[in-house]
Amino acid sequence: MSDLINKIRTELGDKAVLTNEQIGEKHLADWSGETADAKPDAVIRPANTNELSVVLKLCHEAGQAVAVQGGMSGLSGGAIPDHNELALSLERMSGIEEIDAEAMTMTVLSGTPLQTIQEAAEAADLNFPLDLGARGSCTIGGNVSTNAGGNQVIRFGMTRALILGLEAVLADGTVVSSLNKMLKNNAGYDLKQLFIGTEGTLGVVTRIVLRLYPKLSSRCTALCALDTLADVIKFLRLTGSTSGGTLSSYEVMWANYYDYVIERVSHLQSPFDQSYPFYVLMELEGSDQEQDSARFQNLLESALDSTLIKDAAIAQSEKETAAFWQIRDGVGEILPGFAPCANFDISVPISLMEAFLTKADLILQEQFPDIRILTFGHIGDSNVHYIASTGKKEDKEKIYDIIYELTGEHQGSVSAEHGIGKIKRPYLQHSRNDAEIKLMRQLKNSLDPKGILNPNRVI
Ligand SMILES: Cc1cc2nc3c(=O)[nH]c(=O)nc-3n(C[C@H](O)[C@H](O)[C@H](O)COP(=O)(O)OP(=O)(O)OC[C@H]3O[C@@H](n4cnc5c(N)ncnc54)[C@H](O)[C@@H]3O)c2cc1C
Repeated sequence: MSDLINKIRTELGDKAVLTNEQIGEKHLADWSGETADAKPDAVIRPANTNELSVVLKLCHEAGQAVAVQGGMSGLSGGAIPDHNELALSLERMSGIEEIDAEAMTMTVLSGTPLQTIQEAAEAADLNFPLDLGARGSCTIGGNVSTNAGGNQVIRFGMTRALILGLEAVLADGTVVSSLNKMLKNNAGYDLKQLFIGTEGTLGVVTRIVLRLYPKLSSRCTALCALDTLADVIKFLRLTGSTSGGTLSSYEVMWANYYDYVIERVSHLQSPFDQSYPFYVLMELEGSDQEQDSARFQNLLESALDSTLIKDAAIAQSEKETAAFWQIRDGVGEILPGFAPCANFDISVPISLMEAFLTKADLILQEQFPDIRILTFGHIGDSNVHYIASTGKKEDKEKIYDIIYELTGEHQGSVSAEHGIGKIKRPYLQHSRNDAEIKLMRQLKNSLDPKGILNPNRVI
């Protein structure tokens, strides 16, 4: 491998190659709780598409596998290098190339942090509506490769819906530039889809044309307390049908999650003076604050009158809005202290969710009497996050087996938004049939015949 590393150094210069003590911890672990067994022989950091193409061409010739790395905020272990892999980091390919206000597009390099993109859109009086708790550390390339979901999927769709064009480098170094800016383009296969949600197994994403939206000038946020999951779903439907298309977030927290973050994260405070079984953080975004606030107030009052919701706190300032969101995003703060844990990102048809969760809790509590479970999710899109910990690493696999099998039985998906990576690879068959998996293999073999891009991930 050292010959190859020397060749890459000669082609790209010293800045592009980190070895030994130059390799920081951030290249060894993502947020899944898994860590590389050892440091890779090198972290390769190309500065642009051409350099990345050179690297992959050399790796392809040498049959050298690489682990593609964005911001390392992933939760499926996909970016963690195995002992025989080089790490291929996009961290030097960061920046915004263009904002086209007329076309409402932004062209970015794939190593750009999501938050930088959100802020640039806002500064241009536009809106890039992808948002998730890891916004400061995840990169847009990682978002594309995992087809990230996040907090506004019910209104704007997943990352896939926000991409108009992209550029990727194939395993043999071929650059496929498909930087389309138009919403309509049916000229042949939509090749960008090969690289969205395929977790770096079919190509390395280098540049992306993002779809922007008009900036929303009004925001109404409330934290509501409810008694049952059936009420949570009824309230979602009511909100959707009476909010004139302005509902942008509907995040649900079960008491097991809500009480735990309030207790553990010192700067968080509940606006309620008693505990409830369910909490909904909802947000409406529109263009007329006065009108939207009045509609919001009416909606909440009628839900309170009919006892569909038991209590509600409306955010009165940006500070209060942020404080409500910190409760939902508090998972990032408690996760390290909750490890070792089995962290699920599943989706289950909303009509089966209650049956699924009741059964899941029951089976786990029977088998592991000391288990702690945290449940929360985006719900409006059938996505529930379920985190279970016995405090023992050796129980994780048994918990995975139980919950993924149950997910399959309830026609759910073993990955709603975080991707399969390495961790969920053994469970893919619970959500995909043999013909689907065979076709995925055919695609992988034809685009990456030597299996050098993120091998042993996904399939
Ligand atoms: C606190 C917290 C909250 C989160 N909330 C959400 C959420 O609400 N919704 C959600 O979907 N996810 C969420 N995540 C998961 C994570 O942030 C996303 O999966 C994110 O999209 C990963 O981006 P990244 O740049 O960190 O990718 P990485 O972790 O570096 O990589 C993830 C995968 O993408 C591949 N990859 C990365 N960059 C590229 C590239 N340029 N080309 C090809 N492949 C690439 C990697 O090989 C790996 O397989 C959360 C994570 C945390 C820690």
